[in-house]
Amino acid sequence: MTEKIIHNMIIIGSGPAGLAAALYASRANLEPLVFTGMLLGGQVAQTHSVENYPGFPEGIGGLELVDAFKQQAERFGTRIEFDHVTNIDFSERPYKVTTYNGDHYAKTLVLTTGANPRKLDIPGEEEFTGRGVSYCGTCDGHFFTGKDVLVVGGGDSAMEEGLFLTRYATSVTVVHRREELRAGKLLQERAFNNPKVNFIWDTEIKDITGNGVVEKVTLHNRKSGEESERETEGVFIFIGHIPNTELYEGQVEMDDLGYLVVDKYMQTNIPGVYAAGEVADSHFRQVITSAGMGAAAAMQAIHFLEAQAD
Ligand code: NAP
Repeated sequence: MTEKIIHNMIIIGSGPAGLAAALYASRANLEPLVFTGMLLGGQVAQTHSVENYPGFPEGIGGLELVDAFKQQAERFGTRIEFDHVTNIDFSERPYKVTTYNGDHYAKTLVLTTGANPRKLDIPGEEEFTGRGVSYCGTCDGHFFTGKDVLVVGGGDSAMEEGLFLTRYATSVTVVHRREELRAGKLLQERAFNNPKVNFIWDTEIKDITGNGVVEKVTLHNRKSGEESERETEGVFIFIGHIPNTELYEGQVEMDDLGYLVVDKYMQTNIPGVYAAGEVADSHFRQVITSAGMGAAAAMQAIHFLEAQAD
């Protein structure tokens, strides 16, 4: 029978929070094991350019930053496995983490599973995802070269991604449900000043239709009640995120919005289990804040293990 290996720390997720936790834990010789999930680097890996992470005055590509995080964590003994966690048993220590490859055990866990794009939940959205409906301008923008696209949402993501899409699209029309953007002033200004970006205010998309690929949407003006159709080949949706917490349901405490609840030490309600990054943060959602939370979680886990050893 193979011996049951008990790791000091398993980190679930490989975005900035997970890889920063891995860096700190590995530098403390904990030899952490990271399960990447479906996408190494998480959302930042799909970001064209990160301009607000300190140390890179000219900005840095999302993938490049993830690769640097990964290399730095591995240099100190982090093991990164391209595997997906399917279940966690939080009922006894060591905690059992089940992945596609089998069962794994750890004295501490750092949960950094991030968040996924929120859906509009309208007819046609699911059917046309990947056929004109997208949640990632950086990933899909080049498919829309020379086309007219719509962007849904009025926040920073919608403006940032909309501006990115102007590299490819002939025009980018932002459909926003109010008459005022939520995005920060700088991004608003950039969007208003870009001749390729137009706005349709007080409006929601009711449905998306087409024949194999997106051809048109029905718009509903919330003030006048008027409905109209608009032809487009692309609908990019940036209306916020939903935390990835299915693995923790009924076991780890969550808030009303479904985010994991942590104290100022990144500690969840379960001893030795920490959470960091967007799965536990609906507010800041930045690479730097997620990385900071990850580092803090690992530091606290190190203290926890030291106290257990006494
Ligand atoms: P967000 O700030 O929550 O904005 C979501 C937008 O989608 C809002 O304009 C909202 O409208 C709209 N919306 C929500 N549900 C909708 C629905 N069902 N139908 C139509 N519209 C809907 O989300 P985000 O833009 O993803 O940003 C999240 C966080 O990340 C923010 O804190 C943001 O500052 C940060 N962020 C920062 C940067 C940056 O600094 N460069 C870049 C990206 C994100 P209402 O305005 O009417 O609520």
